[in-house]
Amino acid sequence: MFDIIDIVKKRRINKMEKQRMVTGITPSGSMSLGNYLGVVKNLVEYQNEYELFVFVANLHAITIPQDSTSLKSKTKEMTALYIACGLDPEKMTLFLQSDVFEHAQLGWILTTQSTMGELSRMTQFKDKSSKQSEGDNISIPTGLFTYPCLMAADILLYDPKFVPVGVDQKQHLELSRDIAIRMNNKYDEMHVVPEPILTKGNIKIMDLQDPTKKMSKSSDNPKAVIKMLDTPAEITSKIKAAVTDSENLIKYDPINKPGVSNLMNIYSIIKNVSIDDCHKMWEGKNYKDLKDDVTQALLELIIPIQEKYSEIIKGDYLKEVLEKGALKAKKIAHKKLNKVQNKLGINWYRK
Ligand code: AMP
Repeated sequence: MFDIIDIVKKRRINKMEKQRMVTGITPSGSMSLGNYLGVVKNLVEYQNEYELFVFVANLHAITIPQDSTSLKSKTKEMTALYIACGLDPEKMTLFLQSDVFEHAQLGWILTTQSTMGELSRMTQFKDKSSKQSEGDNISIPTGLFTYPCLMAADILLYDPKFVPVGVDQKQHLELSRDIAIRMNNKYDEMHVVPEPILTKGNIKIMDLQDPTKKMSKSSDNPKAVIKMLDTPAEITSKIKAAVTDSENLIKYDPINKPGVSNLMNIYSIIKNVSIDDCHKMWEGKNYKDLKDDVTQALLELIIPIQEKYSEIIKGDYLKEVLEKGALKAKKIAHKKLNKVQNKLGINWYRK
């Protein structure tokens, strides 16, 4: 009897001790091997260590022009793929950003708490706007400029202790922290100031055709990128065509042998073996052996994910997961928005 009570107590304590973590995924393009090994694999581990909230950031996706049919299918594909890769809605909360209206409402409030100067300094705005504009400001979507405020709202709404960020998003988290600190000083404490957690292992998967640059899902060359929904034949042929060098010596040397090192890296991360062990394993072997082993490792990883994906994408399962997730997220978000509105003097008649 006492044992059972102890177990129940322990479970409660473990649950209480879990720190909250929030992150978003933008439903743009198909998930690449780089996205999976660099980010998604980490989240699958984080769901056991943290109280994890993941939202599909469809409001961020529309900051650049989108075709509505394609946005619907990409959103569905991305959600299903995250679950197929191991996110478990029983362990974490998965929801669609637009289903929790509080994101947009707090986003507006935080826009009023930021300055043009701060937003103009965001390097992602400079990069993305140069792609959208024709050399002038006239055609740059306003949402592209203000979206870091929505991102701050996505985070501050849940008062998380941690936010996992890639180096590319570090500046936006800094802005969220600055806004939180500023509001805490001005209106009395209202936000937990979130800490960044840089993605584990600092993993960088390189382009298969130009291994000096990062593998990107938006690459113009389809042979350069492994997509998580590529067929086994596509994966086999992409690895076969991956650029190496003429030495035929399997050695980890990212500067002088970037192609071979990238393949070794992919294998070592998927199989969870050290680069030293990889050297021993491939001693005296040639590039064909290396490529065969990498292909085999990739197929063993990706085929089960694709099988799970085809199950998930059918029927109402996804809809049910997202509805349940939104309800859970809304409980926290609604309370937090009320608190912020109250402190700002917006909803004087509600507590
Ligand atoms: P993106 O696909 O560029 O929108 O990136 C989404 C997230 O995946 C970011 O946090 C990136 O750092 C991560 N990511 C994208 N490509 C790679 C890659 N080749 N290697 C490791 N991480 C990546």
